[in-house]
Amino acid sequence: MECFYEDGLAFTCLPGCRYCCAVEPGFVFLSMNDLQRLCSFTQKPVKDFVAEFCIKVPMGSHHYLSLKERDNHDCIFLGEKGCTVYESRPVQCSTYPFWAHVLSSGKSWEEEKKWCPGIGKGVLHSKEKIDEQLSLRKENQPLIFEELDMSLILS
Ligand code: SF4
Repeated sequence: MECFYEDGLAFTCLPGCRYCCAVEPGFVFLSMNDLQRLCSFTQKPVKDFVAEFCIKVPMGSHHYLSLKERDNHDCIFLGEKGCTVYESRPVQCSTYPFWAHVLSSGKSWEEEKKWCPGIGKGVLHSKEKIDEQLSLRKENQPLIFEELDMSLILS
């Protein structure tokens, strides 16, 4: 079956749109790589980073690490001019909207437009680039808190 995005898909993050990072409650789950990159960027030990910027989200028999939100649902890292950790932002953020469930069909892609005004606009992303984003997301599965090396947290 032919992939619906053989010819690529248009998407551009629109200036001033903060919808991904604010407005509604949501989770930004961190992979191990995300956590290490963000600790290095903020120059915080894992223990301090987790205490200051993360919540543990119970799901089934595990807990996953997500970034904290402010009372108005802004991400803890959202500043006046956008993401304050942009260069090191989590893969969940950097790969949007090229997520598996959004790309599961042309219909899902069209439906995602309800939430994201940048979908269908601006830069054309090739199939190869889109598939790279999908792979990156697969390689960066959310970190299970119970599997986090406690020596990292306790040091
Ligand atoms: S880490 Fe940055 S890009 Fe991701 S939700 Fe927070 S402010 Fe937005």
